[in-house]
Amino acid sequence: MTPEVIAFGEPMLEFNAVEPGSLREVHGYHAGYGGDTSNFAIAASRMGSQVGYLCRLGDDDFGRNFLDLWQSEGIDTRHVVLEKGSVTGIYFVARTGSSHSFLYYRQDSAASHFSSRDIPEQYLRSARVFHSSGISQAISNSACDAVFHAIDVARQAGVLVSYDPNLRPRLWGVGRARAIILETIGLSDFVFPSLEDAQLLTGLEDPEAIADLLLARGPQMVALKLGSGGVLLATPQGRRVFPVHPVEVTDTTGAGDTFAGAFVSCYLQGKSLEECAQWANAAASLTTTGWGAVNPIPGLGAVKKLLDLDLKTV
Ligand code: ADP
Repeated sequence: MTPEVIAFGEPMLEFNAVEPGSLREVHGYHAGYGGDTSNFAIAASRMGSQVGYLCRLGDDDFGRNFLDLWQSEGIDTRHVVLEKGSVTGIYFVARTGSSHSFLYYRQDSAASHFSSRDIPEQYLRSARVFHSSGISQAISNSACDAVFHAIDVARQAGVLVSYDPNLRPRLWGVGRARAIILETIGLSDFVFPSLEDAQLLTGLEDPEAIADLLLARGPQMVALKLGSGGVLLATPQGRRVFPVHPVEVTDTTGAGDTFAGAFVSCYLQGKSLEECAQWANAAASLTTTGWGAVNPIPGLGAVKKLLDLDLKTV
């Protein structure tokens, strides 16, 4: 059976320093799973959707770890390719004070070899949502072409297009990134930018003005993620801010990915856009209460429990 949601991008193993300091000083790392669209896929799956993932991985232990992870999450990996002779990307995270620095080893990774030929068109046509991000496009020119091809196939088949701009100036020049991301927003139905990315993309400061500009390009919904300020849900019909849930924040890694995955899953379960924003906001808030991107992603039950608690305290 074809999954309802299909996501594409580059997963990478994360090595997070066990102690503060520069990478020259630290003595060890916690290994974890990274990659925005992989986090998205896991969030959508834990919220109850059938999800498939598309990518190329190195034919190495890290690649096989990812396959194990997705399979243990019930994610369909039949179109994930293990590429002989190539590597799975990795990155290191160092902490100094409250700031983080990243060192990437992903040049010529298996994921960057993904091309339009790797898009399983029939599989995609039978899904309900296709999700990708600005990172999926930034990893290589062929991957960028593949995103546009997949979006084209999806739109022609009436499959909803979901997109997180996730602008990473380290991966590509801002001018090119801006042009490609704005073009992709115009081809998408649901768009999930963070405020910071949207400000860099549009040159505007004000969330309402940003929402106006992005909606004018054509999507039916923009969820502007405002970090600890919650989320602004904007549609051509109206605007509403959903404040965050007052949780004890440990680590916000992957919160935005969880928001998008939970939103899409709730939408497929028949919820209104407002309900989707409410549920996704609760799911993202819960994700910030644990370390790393993957472990703290909640399931449907935990999100429902948090929302029920809210209702009792109203
Ligand atoms: P991204 O991870 O894409 O940069 P944000 O940092 O804006 O996106 O976070 C995404 C969502 O995670 C927010 O819209 C909110 O729902 C939740 N979130 C982020 N920071 C907090 C926080 N400090 N407390 C509770 N929830 C948060």
